[in-house]
Amino acid sequence: MMAQYLEIKAANPGSLLFYRMGDFYELFFTDAEQASQALGIVLTKRGKHLGEDIRMCGVPIERAEEYLHKLIALGFRVAVCEQLEDPAEAKKRGAKSVVKRDVTRLVTPGTLTEDALLDARRENVLAALARVRAGSGPDDFAYALAFTDMSTGAFRVAATSRPDLPGDLARIEPAEILVSDALLDDGELRALLKSFPAVTPLPRQSFDGAGAEKRLADFFGVAALDAFGAFSRAELIAAAAVVAYVDRTQLGAKPLLSRPQKEAEGGIMAIDAGTRANLELVRTTSGERRGSLLAAVDRTVTAAGARLLARRIAEPLTDLAAIRARHDAVAFLAEEGALRKELREKLARAPDMARAVTRLALQRGGPRDLAAVRDGLDGALILSTLFGPQPPADIARATAALARVPHALVLDLSAALGEALPPYRRDGGFVREGYDPELDSTRALRDESRRVVAALERRYAEETGVRSLKIRHNAVLGYYVEVTAQNADRLREAPHNAIFVHRQTMAGAMRFSSVELGDLESRIASAGERALGLEQAIFDRLAAAVVADTATIRAAADALSDLDVTAGFAELAVTEAHVRPQMEEGVAFAIAGGRHPVVEQALAREGGPFVPNDCDLSPPEGADDGRIVLVTGPNMAGKSTFLRQNALIAVLAQAGAFVPARAARIGVVDRLFSRVGAADDLARGRSTFMVEMVETAAILNQATERSLVILDEIGRGTATFDGMSIAWASLEHLHEVNRCRALFATHFHELTALSQRCKRLSNATVKVTEWHGDVIFLHEVVPGAADRSYGIQVAKLAGLPEAVIARARAVLAELEAAERASPVQRMVDDLPLFAAHPKATPAAASAADPVAESVLAALDDLDPDALTPRAALDALYRLKGVR
Ligand code: ADP
Repeated sequence: MMAQYLEIKAANPGSLLFYRMGDFYELFFTDAEQASQALGIVLTKRGKHLGEDIRMCGVPIERAEEYLHKLIALGFRVAVCEQLEDPAEAKKRGAKSVVKRDVTRLVTPGTLTEDALLDARRENVLAALARVRAGSGPDDFAYALAFTDMSTGAFRVAATSRPDLPGDLARIEPAEILVSDALLDDGELRALLKSFPAVTPLPRQSFDGAGAEKRLADFFGVAALDAFGAFSRAELIAAAAVVAYVDRTQLGAKPLLSRPQKEAEGGIMAIDAGTRANLELVRTTSGERRGSLLAAVDRTVTAAGARLLARRIAEPLTDLAAIRARHDAVAFLAEEGALRKELREKLARAPDMARAVTRLALQRGGPRDLAAVRDGLDGALILSTLFGPQPPADIARATAALARVPHALVLDLSAALGEALPPYRRDGGFVREGYDPELDSTRALRDESRRVVAALERRYAEETGVRSLKIRHNAVLGYYVEVTAQNADRLREAPHNAIFVHRQTMAGAMRFSSVELGDLESRIASAGERALGLEQAIFDRLAAAVVADTATIRAAADALSDLDVTAGFAELAVTEAHVRPQMEEGVAFAIAGGRHPVVEQALAREGGPFVPNDCDLSPPEGADDGRIVLVTGPNMAGKSTFLRQNALIAVLAQAGAFVPARAARIGVVDRLFSRVGAADDLARGRSTFMVEMVETAAILNQATERSLVILDEIGRGTATFDGMSIAWASLEHLHEVNRCRALFATHFHELTALSQRCKRLSNATVKVTEWHGDVIFLHEVVPGAADRSYGIQVAKLAGLPEAVIARARAVLAELEAAERASPVQRMVDDLPLFAAHPKATPAAASAADPVAESVLAALDDLDPDALTPRAALDALYRLKGVR
């Protein structure tokens, strides 16, 4: 057995080996040490190997899931090795024969399917990152991500890029990332990947382009991939790596991934990793769901709905028509209160069909999974008729999917399954009485052996005329007939229907067996087993029927979660007074009476009111580009809250929800950027200031006219003049080059002077008032600049000693006097405005210089990629000749 163990262990490096022995999974050697420590279970010894004690520990199979859960959470991978035959079989081969065993599954963080191992309300994503050469330059690479939630089969691929990769990974939140080990040579990538829970390096062959297409075609059982849509090479490679890994970990059990769907490029609002974290979209900076935007807007009633909602919040759309369609659906359900109530009540009873189907397909399902499909499909059929004649398009699409549910399967499952169901197929007892006549009679035999024996006893008594005849049972004879010695001859006399064979003579009694009793004996003994066998055959047939309809069932499950999210948004809109945002092309952004959904709900719990605030970043009269608002005001006034709430409103609107405001008009945002707070990223060895500058650089390099930017307190991490200069230059860059909609909060009051020069820049401040020398925060955002910083009042509120406060006031007075003579106003007047011209156009140049105009025009006509070296040289001479 040890030889077998060592062989299997060697074939599965990098995993703990759960080696099945009877009712336990045993672990040996270092596996045992690691597991006993991680799980807090006893480490024992058993026999010797090469003269040393074999350390071991064991996990009872009933508790295996619980222990697996702990081990996976701690970052272990586990290879589960099962007995592949009955131990009796092995015995037949010889006394010393070992039961056949092999690994049937590798359990890794990204390939979980059991409810006990999964968080019901969270996706569990396995992703693969592929990189392929896209040109000859050192940095010419194309990147792609493929990702699946194996528990539901959802499978997507997306092109990405080096700059977008961190944001895309943060959006997808993979539980496990597959990469080629070649990629880990790249230090920057390695550092990025380190922040994710599990990275699984695979040999480069797993990411080899040549075999990718075939691997995918084989997996999905198609001749060619054309039907899936057009994939790039990197996308194919990533997708192929996912299916190969899924195959490898499931070892033969065929997981039913849906066909890979390609994400439309630019279809999702781009949000970088820092912004996602700052805005606490799906979790707070401390990693909790509580306190996030997701938690504040979650009114879903199903686990699958909650998972879809998390994805929607993480992936706001950019397609105007699709966003409007979602809003139509929410509006419909917000208006139809009674309908919404009924829908949500019915949804609440719908189980998690998608995950149940996956388990059935992997032969890991139990009777409760069949019941989940039965109840889910039943609910789907009921809900498909709930909506009136012409619901909005999104709801119509969902109900159409619900109506396609296979009725016959629902009926069959309902007829077959009983009420209280055991968790495992092997336990039996889940098929309803009356479903299968053979099963019923077998069970009757098993349960009613007494009645059957009594009936036979009566018959024998009548036929033989021996009224005192008894049927008894013992371990040696099994069932036997017993009569008194005097009556024995009656049994021996022919003719009887039964032939009695004498077995035993006791004092005063004789015992006989009969063919019928022998039959009864074996029938009763095997009835239990047979009933179980029949039930398992029924289970397998039903499971196969479910699996055959996977696509329709998954579509119905998706439709249910879609309805759950929509109804949840409608419920939220009604209960929290959110309004439908008016979505537009262009770059309007006009929020009237906007609120921060998380802060508002937190304040409501404490009984405090939230002060709504307007925000208008729409282009001013005569301009095409959006506005920048510079917000000043003391600490604690509500600047961050104001900035964030407007970003969150954009996210919610494009996720398809209504927004916390009195009215909102929003031109679709393509990218959202934020730079808020000042958390040190010490783990990565960067100071606050460095983090801030890296994030600011990303914004200034990437923000487009359609982007929305939230910048809080930039330049604060350094000496005043440095910081102010950086803030100043960044603000000008946003205004002149990026030309995006932006909110800019700052401590540097001097910057407010810039609004005199920058046409689309306006100032706002958060109102504060003083009462008996104490500061009172009104949280009201009004036009204009803050007159004072109130830092000293806030310090006083915080309990700084009175003497310190008094001294600070004196110092401040001096400083303010000096500042009145400051050169800042002169700079605003004299310093030329930001002089970056990212793209000089012929039109812009023409007024200044006709030569420049013709050179630029000639350059415009050139396509460097299409030029031969000879043509390039000619062009260069021509350009030289212009002068
Ligand atoms: P700042 O960024 O100006 O330092 P914050 O935005 O962090 O201030 O706000 C400080 C606190 O004030 C918040 O924690 C919140 O409780 C409260 N607050 C902010 N905005 C509002 C508002 N509009 N209505 C009510 N309370 C608010």
